[in-house]
Parts: sequence; structure tokens; C-alpha cells
Amino acid sequence: MASPRAERMPGMRRSEYTEQLRPHRAVLPGIMLKLDSKTAVITGGASGIGLAISRLFAQQGAAVEILDRDAAQAQSAVEEIRSAGGEAAAELCDVADAKGTAEAIDRIYARRGRLDILVNNAGIAHVGNALSTTEEDFERVQRVNVFGPANCLRAALPHMIATGGGAIVNLSSCVAVMAIADRFAYSTSKGALLAMTYAVARDFLDKGIRCNALLPGRVHTPFVDGFIARNYPGREAEMFERLSKTQPIGRMGRPEEIAAAALFLCSDEASFITGTALPVDGGTLTVR
Ligand code: NAD
Repeated sequence: MASPRAERMPGMRRSEYTEQLRPHRAVLPGIMLKLDSKTAVITGGASGIGLAISRLFAQQGAAVEILDRDAAQAQSAVEEIRSAGGEAAAELCDVADAKGTAEAIDRIYARRGRLDILVNNAGIAHVGNALSTTEEDFERVQRVNVFGPANCLRAALPHMIATGGGAIVNLSSCVAVMAIADRFAYSTSKGALLAMTYAVARDFLDKGIRCNALLPGRVHTPFVDGFIARNYPGREAEMFERLSKTQPIGRMGRPEEIAAAALFLCSDEASFITGTALPVDGGTLTVR
């Protein structure tokens, strides 16, 4: 049977021949990961992973809109991004508050005229098992980590649809698919966010909207420092070392490493990727 591969015709230069073997180059003229002229809403964009995502997305050309409940940190993130030449603004917002979140996202859409990217990153931690976690704490974690993304989706999806589609990334966690001790409320919330990712990917496929989840392992942010300080006072250095070693790669992740994965999933280069869960975890899920 004749091969479907291009033939190297007599006299054809090698570079011309190899170019024929690369039909994808017509679609992707080089990997650029650029976000020029896109508007990106990053929840929790004032600290840790969200801040790294905000910085990187602005550097790649996006107009970044930080939704955060910490006004001072959000303002300092905006100033830092602007002084580096990027475009950024912030809305003070508790994502657990559906009305306030919808108003903030509507203001962003009115300001920018489009909404292309939503990163559901804002989240809180909690330590406890099914017996030690109170109903109040369980509800508080779900309000931020599950209702928060749902509130943002409800507000953002109509705007994304109006501007022809978009990309959504949800910050789930390895604990959505594996157990570590004493994360009853937190694991429940991250499992729900992963299932929410699949549901949204399915329901809005025909609107040009892609929805993916990141499953980070332990990443060194104020989230982790706060956890260690609260739970192991006086033993911070020892616990930092111990938590680092629990990851096969032997260290915690850096926020910039999670941001790079978020950038890829939100970029046009990931145009064939939806309904996926990408571990960024130093081997935690699969390497022993
Ligand atoms: P962080 O605490 O450093 O930053 C969280 C940001 O979210 C802060 O700016 C905070 O003000 C904001 N925020 C919290 N609750 C909010 C609310 N109700 N409304 C608006 N803003 C709110 O956290 P991080 O470590 O950067 O984590 C970011 C996300 O990544 C979280 O969803 C977390 O669950 C997830 N994650 C973190 C790790 C890790 O090891 N750091 C691992 C896996 C997943």
C-alpha cells in the first residue's frame, strides 16, 4: 500500500521535505504561549500560586483581573505587575458571596469588553478528619472551595460565551484523587472541584469553552507556611523539611511551576485539551 507520507522529490531540499511532514505548523506557527488581547480573571490572584499566575499571564500579554478578598495584597500585586509593564486591575471580592462575585465579574466585563480566561484558584485549607471536623468548618471550606468556583462560573460563562469561547482552569489538588491524613473537608472540596471541571467541560464544549483542572502536590506558598505555623509551632523548619521529603522529587513545588502549567492550559496551544486533570506534583501521584 502506498505510504501517506510526503515523498522527497528529486532536487527537493531536505528542509523543504521535512516541512511537508509537519502539517501542524500551519495551525501552530511555533509555540508562543501568548495571551495577547485576552482578559484573564484570576481568583485569589494576590498571593502564592494565584500571584504567580497573575504575573505570568500579564507577562504573556493578558489583561489580568485579580479577584481577592485581601485588598492590600491585591493592590500590591496590581502595582507590581503594572510597574513591570503589564496590565492589571483588582476587584475586592469574597468568592463565597455569589452576589458580590457576580457584580465584580460584571464590572470587569464592562471595563474590558471581553472575558477569555477564568482561573478558579482562591481556596482555603483545613485540617481534620470526619469526626473532628465541625459542621461549621466543613461548610466554610465548601463555601470557598466549591461554591466559590461555581459562583465565578455562573458569572463568567455568559460573558465567555458572548465573546466566542474561552479557557477555564480550576486549582484542584492531588488530594482529589488520593488520601492524605486529616484533610476531610479540604479533600472533599477538591474532589468536587475536579468533578465540576468535567461537568463544565462537557456542558460548554459546543460554546468553544475548554475547562481543565490542575492537581498540584505541595507547593511552597503562604498557604503552606500558615498551615505549618498553625499546626507545628516551634517546629517549623523540621516540618518544612519533612513535608518537602514526602514528595518523590524531594522538595515542594514553586508557584511559578504551577503557573507555567496554567499558562499552557489557558493558551491556544492547548486547543485540543479539555476535561483533563493535570498533576503538577513532583511525582506524588505516580512515582514511588
Ligand atoms: P494562598 O493562601 O497563598 O493564596 C490564596 C489566595 O486566595 C489569597 O490571596 C487569599 O486572599 C485568596 N482567597 C482565599 N479565600 C478567598 C475568598 N473566599 N475569596 C477571594 N479570595 C480568597 O494559597 P496557595 O497555596 O497559592 O493556593 C492556591 C490554590 O491552590 C488553592 O485553591 C489551594 O487549595 C490550591 N493548592 C495549593 C497547594 C499548595 O501546596 N500550596 C497544593 C494543591 C492545591
